[in-house]
Amino acid sequence: MNRCKSATFLFLHLHQGKLWSKSSQPVCVIPTCTRPMEIGRLNPTRHLSPAMKVPVVVALGPGVTHLKEGDRVGIAWLHSACGHCEFCFSGWETLCKAQQNSGYSVNGSFAEYALGQADFLGRIPDQLSFVDAGPILCAGVTTYKGLKETDARPGEWVVISSVGGLGHVAIQYATAMGFHVAAVDVGEEKLDLARELGAQIAVDARAEDPARKIQDEIGGAHGILVTAVSPIAFKQAMGMLRRRGTCVLIGLPPGEFPVSIFDVVLSRYTLRGSIVGTRKDLEEALGFAAEGKVKATIEQLPLDSINEVFSRLREGKVNGRVVLNVA
Ligand code: ZN
Repeated sequence: MNRCKSATFLFLHLHQGKLWSKSSQPVCVIPTCTRPMEIGRLNPTRHLSPAMKVPVVVALGPGVTHLKEGDRVGIAWLHSACGHCEFCFSGWETLCKAQQNSGYSVNGSFAEYALGQADFLGRIPDQLSFVDAGPILCAGVTTYKGLKETDARPGEWVVISSVGGLGHVAIQYATAMGFHVAAVDVGEEKLDLARELGAQIAVDARAEDPARKIQDEIGGAHGILVTAVSPIAFKQAMGMLRRRGTCVLIGLPPGEFPVSIFDVVLSRYTLRGSIVGTRKDLEEALGFAAEGKVKATIEQLPLDSINEVFSRLREGKVNGRVVLNVA
């Protein structure tokens, strides 16, 4: 442990203590031969989400009994939560006001060693490679949770708005969860990808009004997941809802969009946001990936290319997710 502590300023760390303890009794974690971290469609002006390191445990802090050395684990955005507020009590630790976030309020994942809160580490199934697990720790759990939040049931229709880094994963989850899937984006390349991943309907928002198309084709969607980075997509999404439908926002462009009060009231629409997922959501999301039902499109690059990746993110030139190898 001393070695790990002394490395604090050089390596990435995760913190761990006893259950809900704020004391930093660390679990020391080291990645194996491949040391991937994923970068996706982020807001580069805010931060680089590190939510995705997938190492193995090399040392445990005092009081940690549910992990052992060699366990495959991953660091998610939710680094820790207080454990005693109304949100933590009710299974909504993602809303804890005292939460810490990996790479944002605590040191993130871009190094060979890290300290983490053992209670908040994702357990990586053996069948899932580290590279494939990386995107699931952020894009995967976020889209999976967002789909759950649509309250759609198997056999009902969900629309995935935008087939980017989040959307291409969302289509796979939606298909695996038993929904009928429609996708909206612009350009044949994106629409072909959507169909390939399981979308039964793919709408080019530049060629036709997506709201009208979805209403004409299926009578509106029970659930809509907006992964887009353009505010116009959020406005369009509301028009695609079926009566009593739910629109879930997980894309994060700055700005606002107008909502018709009449439409929301008379059609009993629900509009809600969703942010990452709980530890239980993460476990389920990893399970789908381990079964081969969800796999992000991944480009692997060395850590040295991180500035170039940032530039590409700003320019919208990252397709799928980038996984950085530390080794
Ligand atoms: Zn809390």
